[in-house]
Amino acid sequence: MPIITNDINLVADSLMQHDVAAIPTETVYGLAGNIFSEKAIRRIYEVKQRPLFNPLIVHIHDVSEMEKVASAIPPLAQALAEKFWPGPLTLLLPKKDSVPDLITAGKDTVAVRVPNHPVTLSLLQQLPFPLAAPSANPFGSISPTTAEHVASYFKDEFPYILDGGACKKGIESTIIGFNEDGAIIYRYGSLAIEEIENITGPLQEYIRNEENPDAPGMLLRHYAPATTTILSSDIKKSIAENTGRKIGLMLFRDTYTNGQVTVVETLSASGSMEEAASNLYAAMHRLDHHQLDIIIAERFPDKGLGRSINDRLQRATHP
Ligand code: AMP
Ligand code: MG
Repeated sequence: MPIITNDINLVADSLMQHDVAAIPTETVYGLAGNIFSEKAIRRIYEVKQRPLFNPLIVHIHDVSEMEKVASAIPPLAQALAEKFWPGPLTLLLPKKDSVPDLITAGKDTVAVRVPNHPVTLSLLQQLPFPLAAPSANPFGSISPTTAEHVASYFKDEFPYILDGGACKKGIESTIIGFNEDGAIIYRYGSLAIEEIENITGPLQEYIRNEENPDAPGMLLRHYAPATTTILSSDIKKSIAENTGRKIGLMLFRDTYTNGQVTVVETLSASGSMEEAASNLYAAMHRLDHHQLDIIIAERFPDKGLGRSINDRLQRATHP
Protein backbone atom coordinates (compact mmCIF):
# COMPACT_ATOMS: atom_id res chain seq x y z
CA MET A 1 0.00 0.00 0.00
CA PRO A 2 1.20 3.58 -0.56
CA ILE A 3 2.24 5.24 2.72
CA ILE A 4 -0.32 7.65 4.21
CA THR A 5 1.54 10.70 5.49
CA ASN A 6 1.00 14.26 6.75
CA ASP A 7 4.50 15.31 5.67
CA ILE A 8 4.10 17.88 2.88
CA ASN A 9 7.89 18.14 2.33
CA LEU A 10 8.21 14.41 1.81
CA VAL A 11 5.47 14.45 -0.85
CA ALA A 12 6.92 17.59 -2.48
CA ASP A 13 10.32 15.85 -2.79
CA SER A 14 8.69 12.79 -4.30
CA LEU A 15 6.84 14.93 -6.87
CA MET A 16 10.13 16.72 -7.67
CA GLN A 17 11.56 13.25 -8.50
CA HIS A 18 8.83 12.74 -11.16
CA ASP A 19 6.79 10.40 -8.95
CA VAL A 20 3.02 10.64 -8.67
CA ALA A 21 1.31 11.14 -5.30
CA ALA A 22 -2.25 11.20 -4.01
CA ILE A 23 -3.28 14.60 -2.63
CA PRO A 24 -6.34 15.89 -0.75
CA THR A 25 -8.67 18.51 -2.19
CA GLU A 26 -12.06 19.77 -1.03
CA THR A 27 -13.77 17.72 -3.79
CA VAL A 28 -12.13 14.27 -3.97
CA TYR A 29 -8.55 12.96 -3.59
CA GLY A 30 -6.40 13.51 -6.67
CA LEU A 31 -3.55 11.52 -8.19
CA ALA A 32 -1.04 14.26 -8.87
CA GLY A 33 2.06 14.77 -11.01
CA ASN A 34 4.24 17.59 -12.38
CA ILE A 35 2.47 18.85 -15.54
CA PHE A 36 5.87 19.24 -17.26
CA SER A 37 7.09 15.71 -16.47
CA GLU A 38 6.17 13.28 -19.22
CA LYS A 39 7.14 10.41 -16.93
CA ALA A 40 4.81 11.54 -14.15
CA ILE A 41 1.88 12.25 -16.48
CA ARG A 42 2.18 8.91 -18.27
CA ARG A 43 2.29 7.25 -14.87
CA ILE A 44 -1.00 8.93 -13.84
CA TYR A 45 -2.80 7.46 -16.87
CA GLU A 46 -1.14 4.07 -16.31
CA VAL A 47 -1.94 3.85 -12.59
CA LYS A 48 -5.58 4.86 -13.13
CA GLN A 49 -5.90 2.79 -16.31
CA ARG A 50 -7.37 5.93 -17.74
CA PRO A 51 -7.69 6.16 -21.53
CA LEU A 52 -5.31 8.75 -23.00
CA PHE A 53 -8.20 10.65 -24.60
CA ASN A 54 -9.36 11.80 -21.15
CA PRO A 55 -7.66 15.10 -20.29
CA LEU A 56 -6.48 16.05 -16.79
CA ILE A 57 -7.22 19.07 -14.59
CA VAL A 58 -4.29 21.38 -13.83
CA HIS A 59 -4.12 22.59 -10.21
CA ILE A 60 -2.56 25.97 -9.39
CA HIS A 61 -2.37 27.87 -6.10
CA ASP A 62 -3.53 31.33 -7.13
CA VAL A 63 -5.67 33.13 -9.72
CA SER A 64 -2.51 34.90 -10.95
CA GLU A 65 -1.02 31.54 -12.02
CA MET A 66 -3.78 31.07 -14.61
CA GLU A 67 -1.80 32.93 -17.26
CA LYS A 68 1.06 30.44 -16.93
CA VAL A 69 -1.09 27.76 -18.57
CA ALA A 70 -3.74 29.75 -20.49
CA SER A 71 -3.00 31.75 -23.65
CA ALA A 72 -6.10 33.93 -23.20
CA ILE A 73 -8.55 34.51 -20.38
CA PRO A 74 -12.13 35.44 -21.30
CA PRO A 75 -13.51 38.18 -19.00
CA LEU A 76 -16.21 35.77 -17.74
CA ALA A 77 -13.52 33.26 -16.78
CA GLN A 78 -11.58 35.92 -14.92
CA ALA A 79 -14.74 36.96 -13.05
CA LEU A 80 -15.57 33.36 -12.10
CA ALA A 81 -12.01 32.66 -10.96
CA GLU A 82 -11.96 35.74 -8.77
CA LYS A 83 -15.33 34.91 -7.26
CA PHE A 84 -14.98 31.15 -6.66
CA TRP A 85 -11.25 30.30 -6.32
CA PRO A 86 -9.99 28.63 -4.26
CA GLY A 87 -13.00 26.40 -4.82
CA PRO A 88 -14.65 23.52 -6.69
CA LEU A 89 -14.86 25.19 -10.10
CA THR A 90 -12.76 24.12 -13.11
CA LEU A 91 -12.39 26.47 -16.08
CA LEU A 92 -11.61 25.38 -19.64
CA LEU A 93 -9.26 27.94 -21.20
CA PRO A 94 -7.27 28.11 -24.44
CA LYS A 95 -4.00 26.40 -23.60
CA LYS A 96 -0.47 27.75 -23.83
CA ASP A 97 1.89 25.84 -26.15
CA SER A 98 4.02 24.99 -23.11
CA VAL A 99 1.22 22.83 -21.64
CA PRO A 100 1.94 19.28 -22.85
CA ASP A 101 -0.64 17.65 -25.16
CA LEU A 102 -0.69 14.65 -22.82
CA ILE A 103 -2.40 16.82 -20.19
CA THR A 104 -5.08 18.09 -22.55
CA ALA A 105 -5.41 14.90 -24.62
CA GLY A 106 -4.49 16.92 -27.68
CA LYS A 107 -7.25 19.52 -27.15
CA ASP A 108 -6.55 23.21 -27.51
CA THR A 109 -8.12 23.94 -24.11
CA VAL A 110 -6.66 23.30 -20.66
CA ALA A 111 -8.77 22.61 -17.57
CA VAL A 112 -7.56 24.58 -14.54
CA ARG A 113 -8.56 25.31 -10.96
CA VAL A 114 -7.34 26.44 -7.52
CA PRO A 115 -8.35 23.74 -5.01
CA ASN A 116 -9.61 24.89 -1.61
CA HIS A 117 -7.57 22.70 0.72
CA PRO A 118 -4.89 24.17 3.01
CA VAL A 119 -2.56 21.14 2.73
CA THR A 120 -2.59 21.04 -1.06
CA LEU A 121 -2.39 24.83 -1.41
CA SER A 122 0.72 24.75 0.74
CA LEU A 123 2.14 21.88 -1.36
CA LEU A 124 1.44 23.80 -4.60
CA GLN A 125 3.13 26.91 -3.18
CA GLN A 126 6.31 24.92 -2.52
CA LEU A 127 6.48 23.37 -5.96
CA PRO A 128 7.94 25.13 -9.00
CA PHE A 129 5.27 23.59 -11.26
CA PRO A 130 1.47 23.09 -11.31
CA LEU A 131 0.04 19.63 -10.65
CA ALA A 132 -2.15 17.65 -13.01
CA ALA A 133 -4.53 15.60 -10.89
CA PRO A 134 -7.50 13.46 -11.89
CA SER A 135 -9.33 11.60 -9.14
CA ALA A 136 -7.19 9.00 -7.32
CA ASN A 137 -9.23 5.92 -8.27
CA PRO A 138 -9.14 3.34 -11.04
CA PHE A 139 -10.95 4.71 -14.10
CA GLY A 140 -14.74 4.49 -13.79
CA SER A 141 -14.89 3.49 -10.12
CA ILE A 142 -16.21 5.49 -7.13
CA SER A 143 -14.05 8.53 -6.41
CA PRO A 144 -12.08 8.55 -3.12
CA THR A 145 -12.96 11.07 -0.42
CA THR A 146 -10.57 9.83 2.27
CA ALA A 147 -6.90 8.75 2.28
CA GLU A 148 -8.12 5.26 3.24
CA HIS A 149 -10.31 5.03 0.13
CA VAL A 150 -7.23 5.79 -1.99
CA ALA A 151 -5.16 3.21 -0.10
CA SER A 152 -7.84 0.56 -0.65
CA TYR A 153 -7.58 1.00 -4.43
CA PHE A 154 -3.81 0.64 -4.84
CA LYS A 155 -0.96 -1.71 -3.87
CA ASP A 156 2.39 0.00 -4.44
CA GLU A 157 1.91 1.85 -7.73
CA PHE A 158 3.13 5.12 -6.10
CA PRO A 159 4.88 5.96 -2.80
CA TYR A 160 2.69 8.44 -0.89
CA ILE A 161 -0.83 9.52 -0.05
CA LEU A 162 -0.83 13.00 1.50
CA ASP A 163 -3.52 12.91 4.19
CA GLY A 164 -5.83 15.91 4.44
CA GLY A 165 -8.77 14.27 6.17
CA ALA A 166 -12.19 13.67 4.62
CA CYS A 167 -13.00 15.87 1.60
CA LYS A 168 -15.46 18.58 2.66
CA LYS A 169 -17.37 18.87 -0.63
CA GLY A 170 -17.22 15.23 -1.65
CA ILE A 171 -18.09 15.39 -5.34
CA GLU A 172 -15.93 16.58 -8.24
CA SER A 173 -15.58 20.18 -9.36
CA THR A 174 -18.09 21.84 -11.68
CA ILE A 175 -16.52 22.28 -15.14
CA ILE A 176 -17.27 25.40 -17.18
CA GLY A 177 -16.10 26.27 -20.70
CA PHE A 178 -16.62 29.35 -22.87
CA ASN A 179 -17.63 30.30 -26.41
CA GLU A 180 -18.72 33.48 -28.22
CA ASP A 181 -22.14 33.24 -26.59
CA GLY A 182 -20.94 32.91 -23.01
CA ALA A 183 -20.41 30.03 -20.59
CA ILE A 184 -21.11 26.31 -21.06
CA ILE A 185 -21.65 23.67 -18.36
CA TYR A 186 -19.47 20.59 -19.09
CA ARG A 187 -19.89 18.76 -15.80
CA TYR A 188 -22.20 19.30 -12.84
CA GLY A 189 -20.23 19.33 -9.61
CA SER A 190 -19.66 20.71 -6.14
CA LEU A 191 -20.43 24.30 -7.08
CA ALA A 192 -24.17 24.65 -7.79
CA ILE A 193 -24.89 26.08 -11.25
CA GLU A 194 -27.30 28.63 -9.78
CA GLU A 195 -24.30 30.30 -8.12
CA ILE A 196 -22.39 30.37 -11.40
CA GLU A 197 -25.39 31.68 -13.35
CA ASN A 198 -25.57 34.66 -10.98
CA ILE A 199 -22.39 35.80 -12.71
CA THR A 200 -22.62 34.31 -16.21
CA GLY A 201 -26.35 34.36 -16.91
CA PRO A 202 -27.99 31.13 -18.15
CA LEU A 203 -25.44 28.42 -18.95
CA GLN A 204 -25.43 26.64 -22.29
CA GLU A 205 -25.73 22.87 -22.13
CA TYR A 206 -22.79 20.94 -23.56
CA ILE A 207 -23.89 18.39 -26.17
CA ARG A 208 -22.78 15.10 -24.74
CA ASN A 209 -22.51 11.68 -26.30
CA GLU A 210 -20.29 8.61 -26.01
CA GLU A 211 -18.41 9.43 -29.21
CA ASN A 212 -17.57 12.89 -27.97
CA PRO A 213 -16.34 12.38 -24.41
CA ASP A 214 -14.85 15.83 -24.07
CA ALA A 215 -15.20 15.45 -20.35
CA PRO A 216 -15.04 11.78 -19.35
CA GLY A 217 -16.87 12.66 -16.18
CA MET A 218 -19.69 12.69 -18.74
CA LEU A 219 -19.38 9.10 -19.89
CA LEU A 220 -22.72 7.45 -19.32
CA ARG A 221 -21.27 4.94 -16.88
CA HIS A 222 -18.81 6.42 -14.38
CA TYR A 223 -18.37 6.82 -10.61
CA ALA A 224 -19.87 3.35 -10.30
CA PRO A 225 -19.93 0.82 -7.44
CA ALA A 226 -19.20 -2.83 -8.32
CA THR A 227 -22.65 -3.76 -6.93
CA THR A 228 -25.65 -3.39 -9.27
CA THR A 229 -27.19 -0.03 -8.41
CA ILE A 230 -30.53 1.49 -9.42
CA LEU A 231 -31.92 5.00 -9.06
CA SER A 232 -35.43 5.26 -7.66
CA SER A 233 -38.08 7.90 -7.04
CA ASP A 234 -40.27 5.37 -5.23
CA ILE A 235 -38.24 3.43 -2.67
CA LYS A 236 -41.11 1.21 -1.41
CA LYS A 237 -41.95 0.13 -4.94
CA SER A 238 -38.29 -0.59 -5.77
CA ILE A 239 -37.97 -2.71 -2.61
CA ALA A 240 -41.09 -4.66 -3.54
CA GLU A 241 -39.71 -5.24 -7.04
CA ASN A 242 -36.55 -6.75 -5.54
CA THR A 243 -38.13 -9.12 -3.02
CA GLY A 244 -35.82 -11.96 -1.99
CA ARG A 245 -32.64 -10.09 -2.85
CA LYS A 246 -30.07 -8.64 -0.44
CA ILE A 247 -30.86 -4.93 -0.62
CA GLY A 248 -28.93 -1.83 0.48
CA LEU A 249 -30.60 1.58 0.48
CA MET A 250 -29.04 4.99 -0.03
CA LEU A 251 -31.52 7.66 1.05
CA PHE A 252 -31.44 11.45 1.11
CA ARG A 253 -32.85 12.17 4.58
CA ASP A 254 -35.03 9.27 5.68
CA THR A 255 -34.14 6.29 7.77
CA TYR A 256 -36.03 3.15 6.91
CA THR A 257 -36.55 -0.03 8.83
CA ASN A 258 -37.83 -2.98 6.95
CA GLY A 259 -36.92 -6.64 7.37
CA GLN A 260 -36.18 -6.86 3.65
CA VAL A 261 -33.40 -4.32 3.75
CA THR A 262 -29.89 -5.31 4.91
CA VAL A 263 -28.34 -1.87 5.29
CA VAL A 264 -29.43 1.76 4.99
CA GLU A 265 -27.24 4.81 4.40
CA THR A 266 -28.91 8.16 5.13
CA LEU A 267 -26.94 10.93 3.44
CA SER A 268 -28.26 13.86 5.49
CA ALA A 269 -30.76 13.41 8.32
CA SER A 270 -31.22 17.20 8.41
CA GLY A 271 -32.00 17.33 4.66
CA SER A 272 -28.92 19.33 3.66
CA MET A 273 -27.83 18.70 0.07
CA GLU A 274 -24.33 19.97 0.91
CA GLU A 275 -24.02 17.36 3.65
CA ALA A 276 -25.49 14.69 1.37
CA ALA A 277 -22.93 15.50 -1.36
CA SER A 278 -20.06 15.26 1.10
CA ASN A 279 -21.28 11.84 2.29
CA LEU A 280 -22.24 10.40 -1.12
CA TYR A 281 -19.09 8.54 -2.18
CA ALA A 282 -18.17 7.31 1.31
CA ALA A 283 -21.69 5.83 1.58
CA MET A 284 -21.31 4.19 -1.84
CA HIS A 285 -17.94 2.73 -0.78
CA ARG A 286 -19.49 1.29 2.41
CA LEU A 287 -22.53 -0.15 0.61
CA ASP A 288 -20.25 -1.70 -1.98
CA HIS A 289 -18.51 -3.73 0.78
CA HIS A 290 -21.69 -5.43 2.04
CA GLN A 291 -21.93 -8.13 -0.65
CA LEU A 292 -25.40 -6.88 -1.57
CA ASP A 293 -27.40 -8.04 -4.58
CA ILE A 294 -28.59 -4.52 -5.26
CA ILE A 295 -28.19 -0.92 -4.07
CA ILE A 296 -31.33 1.23 -4.40
CA ALA A 297 -30.39 4.93 -4.44
CA GLU A 298 -33.00 7.62 -3.93
CA ARG A 299 -33.29 10.36 -6.55
CA PHE A 300 -32.67 13.89 -5.25
CA PRO A 301 -34.68 17.08 -5.87
CA ASP A 302 -33.41 18.41 -9.21
CA LYS A 303 -32.02 21.75 -8.01
CA GLY A 304 -28.81 23.12 -6.51
CA LEU A 305 -26.41 20.33 -5.55
CA GLY A 306 -29.27 17.86 -6.00
CA ARG A 307 -28.66 18.11 -9.76
CA SER A 308 -24.99 17.23 -9.31
CA ILE A 309 -25.85 14.32 -7.00
CA ASN A 310 -28.46 13.02 -9.49
CA ASP A 311 -25.88 13.34 -12.26
CA ARG A 312 -23.45 11.09 -10.33
CA LEU A 313 -26.21 8.65 -9.36
CA GLN A 314 -27.35 8.40 -12.97
CA ARG A 315 -23.82 7.51 -14.08
CA ALA A 316 -23.32 5.13 -11.16
CA THR A 317 -26.50 3.28 -12.13
CA HIS A 318 -26.05 3.16 -15.91
CA PRO A 319 -25.85 -0.49 -16.99
P1 AMP B 1 -11.31 13.86 -12.88
O1 AMP B 1 -10.32 14.78 -12.23
O2 AMP B 1 -11.01 12.41 -12.71
O3 AMP B 1 -12.72 14.24 -12.51
O4 AMP B 1 -11.20 14.13 -14.43
C1 AMP B 1 -10.97 15.40 -14.97
C2 AMP B 1 -12.16 15.93 -15.69
O5 AMP B 1 -11.83 17.16 -16.35
C3 AMP B 1 -12.62 14.99 -16.76
O6 AMP B 1 -14.02 14.91 -16.75
C4 AMP B 1 -12.08 15.66 -18.01
O7 AMP B 1 -12.73 15.31 -19.18
C5 AMP B 1 -12.23 17.10 -17.71
N1 AMP B 1 -11.34 17.89 -18.58
C6 AMP B 1 -10.06 18.11 -18.39
N2 AMP B 1 -9.54 18.85 -19.41
C7 AMP B 1 -10.55 19.09 -20.26
C8 AMP B 1 -10.65 19.79 -21.52
N3 AMP B 1 -9.60 20.40 -22.07
N4 AMP B 1 -11.86 19.79 -22.11
C9 AMP B 1 -12.92 19.19 -21.55
N5 AMP B 1 -12.88 18.52 -20.38
C10 AMP B 1 -11.71 18.47 -19.73
MG1 MG C 1 -12.44 10.91 -11.97
